[in-house]
Amino acid sequence: MGMKKLEILAKSSSSETPYTVECYLDENKISVFCSCPAGDNRLLCKHVKKIVAGDESILYDKNQKSELQMIIDHLKGTEISVLVSELNRQESIMEEAKRNSEKLKKKLKPLILNELEQ
Ligand SMILES: [Zn+2]
Repeated sequence: MGMKKLEILAKSSSSETPYTVECYLDENKISVFCSCPAGDNRLLCKHVKKIVAGDESILYDKNQKSELQMIIDHLKGTEISVLVSELNRQESIMEEAKRNSEKLKKKLKPLILNELEQ
């Protein structure tokens, strides 16, 4: 089995024009290139993260669900899929902690930053 190339269009949060995510699948490996500015700098951008996590919300074209599924099937049982799910888990813990700390600050602020009556 040779190398397989898939091109997935990913939604951009700042523009109507999608980014192109090129995925090269070989054996149990993958190599991904995203055309966004972060991807250009070889950073792990959200488009790549969502694609390797099989998150359909990043798809610009919903008809590309089957391509996304191919990537999921390809990564099944690899260290990559284990790391991706652990990363997602940690990021949702972080999001929840962020929300909770904002709530606490909101409660704390009026108790500390008030004017004391003399
Ligand atoms: Zn990207």
